[in-house]
Amino acid sequence: MITFTGVTKRYGDGKIAVDQLDLTIESGEAVMLVGPSGCGKTTTLKMINRLIEPSDGVIAIDGVDTATREVTELRRSIGYVIQQVGLFPHLTVGDNVATVMKLAKWDKDRIRARVTELLELIGLPPGEFEERLPGELSGGQQQRVGVARALAIDPLMLLMDEPFGAIDPITRDRLQDELLRLQRVVRKTIVFVTHDIDEAIKLGDRIALFSPSGKLAQFATPAELLARPASQYVEDFLGGGRMVRRLSLIRLSDVSLGGNTDGAGSESLPVDATLRDALDAVLRSPTGRVQVRDGDRAIGTVDAETIRRASQ
Ligand code: ADP
Ligand code: MG
Repeated sequence: MITFTGVTKRYGDGKIAVDQLDLTIESGEAVMLVGPSGCGKTTTLKMINRLIEPSDGVIAIDGVDTATREVTELRRSIGYVIQQVGLFPHLTVGDNVATVMKLAKWDKDRIRARVTELLELIGLPPGEFEERLPGELSGGQQQRVGVARALAIDPLMLLMDEPFGAIDPITRDRLQDELLRLQRVVRKTIVFVTHDIDEAIKLGDRIALFSPSGKLAQFATPAELLARPASQYVEDFLGGGRMVRRLSLIRLSDVSLGGNTDGAGSESLPVDATLRDALDAVLRSPTGRVQVRDGDRAIGTVDAETIRRASQ
């Protein structure tokens, strides 16, 4: 768990980059720091591993004030991934992934086994990729190696600063899906900086949205944020199509379904379909009602009223 209590960062010129931040990030959750350029996202992130020291306030990890910890040891317990990746160009993929393990003085066999495991985890088969140089990989593959390196010694948390920012939209979408898959396996506490609200909605358990002045504007789950923006600023930042985007975050398994399945038409939806899919099906159905099934078993129906109630 990471807690920020009254954290302020004032740079030398007196400029306030982060203003009185109170924020609690639970262990195992992915929190997105979002907002326009210059709102203090990177500053907030770098204060966690003390690449930047706060001017005021306390940041604690599992109750321990990070200011009291030895910096090298603190940083080793935290994986850090940045947009520019920062792979060593003259080292092979395997050696890049192994850097931190070597610093931690792991023995050769343990390093080899871990490198193999990590390359498999990120979908770059070691036989094909371990001996390559970073220059022989695509941008997306390099970014994956960056993630593997950050995970190397099994840190408690990952800090990611716009890791997919410089990558083409298709690869980016794929890397986002991979991160979601990876997170289901490794369950790290992730703090992820992005200026892209759609990326935040897709990847975040919760979103911390900052205003341009470095103040926290709202901290909420994606669904809450879309349903109840706390201010005009938040609403503007979220942009259009809020309702439709919200529907795609809610699954039929989360809502209370209608009972009688008679006359519900021949089409049916699996219970893990989203309300967005349900809305499409309901609009297509001649009866305006669609059956919902769990496996082969009919468990209820959905109609426009079900969707309206659930989306409030
Ligand atoms: P973001 O990551 O949200 O774009 P940053 O945290 O990098 O924002 O920066 C927040 C504000 O602090 C910006 O106005 C930026 O210009 C300023 N800033 C960042 N780093 C420094 C620095 N080393 N010295 C002075 N001002 C800085
Ligand atoms: Mg930044």
